[in-house]
Amino acid sequence: MAPTRLGVVGHPVAHSLSPAFWEPALAHAGRDATFEAFDVPSAGFEAFIRELAVSGARGLNVTIPHKTAAYELADRRSNVAERTGAVNVVVFDGAEISGANTDAHGVAAALGDLGVTIAGVRALVLGAGGAGRAAVDALRSGSATVVVANRTRGRAEALGVEVIGWADVPLALPEIDVLVHTTSVGLDGKASVLDDSALREAAAGRLRTVLDVVYRPDETPLVHAARHAGLVAGDGLRMLVHQAAEAWRLFFGDEAPIEVMHAAAARAAGR
Ligand code: NAP
Repeated sequence: MAPTRLGVVGHPVAHSLSPAFWEPALAHAGRDATFEAFDVPSAGFEAFIRELAVSGARGLNVTIPHKTAAYELADRRSNVAERTGAVNVVVFDGAEISGANTDAHGVAAALGDLGVTIAGVRALVLGAGGAGRAAVDALRSGSATVVVANRTRGRAEALGVEVIGWADVPLALPEIDVLVHTTSVGLDGKASVLDDSALREAAAGRLRTVLDVVYRPDETPLVHAARHAGLVAGDGLRMLVHQAAEAWRLFFGDEAPIEVMHAAAARAAGR
């Protein structure tokens, strides 16, 4: 039998860590499977997916900028995909395409790794893009009280949860238990959405935990500042691995070797 074909599709995709941790995980589990990175511009996305589906491939992770397009072309969608309007995993059954969103599971599991029990916490999500919607869904589904702030307020208001102004975040922070940062700020290793004094004041209040979905070879500026303020903080690498482990369940129906994935992802991220 031919190897199972898997992969990640994005544009650009060269920076993706996924092949570097999927390949050792597949080898570790003894799976006869390949994992490829496909760089496909938006104009060719739908044709590419439909062709790959009928070629016998099992499925793909979908990354920037295709999560909305994948949502639109899926024949069936998971409940989380429906609620977030984003598909980051497609699974093929012949020409039929199922769309799922495993980013929300990634957020919930990454918070679990930081020792957070979601039920009953008061959480603030910064950002209302794809990752922000996944974080809101994970927190709301887990029975947290969720507040959102986004630079463009209208985008946060579409989420149907309490919204606060972007400028009011430092004031609100001491009343929050968990902060989840989902904007792209911090990717450069320099900029942060919050300054150190805001985090110190919040740490003197209720704030205990910060999850930054951004990841870099070293600490993100937000994770660095949060740890300095005495908070428990983690970046997006474990979220990336957890969302992949959930994709593995959809592709194969069993558990991924998650620690093999995490060790390989950390190496690939330059740690
Ligand atoms: P997106 O849909 O394009 O949303 C981007 C978000 O960032 C929006 O809320 C946007 O606010 C905000 N933003 C951008 N520049 C900003 C600035 N200068 N100041 C304040 N807010 C700013 O992107 P996404 O897919 O949600 O991804 C966001 C980040 O999450 C990226 O760094 C991505 O790599 C990361 N991510 C990580 C994982 C993981 O597994 N760890 C998974 C998914 C995404 P506006 O609405 O005002 O533009």
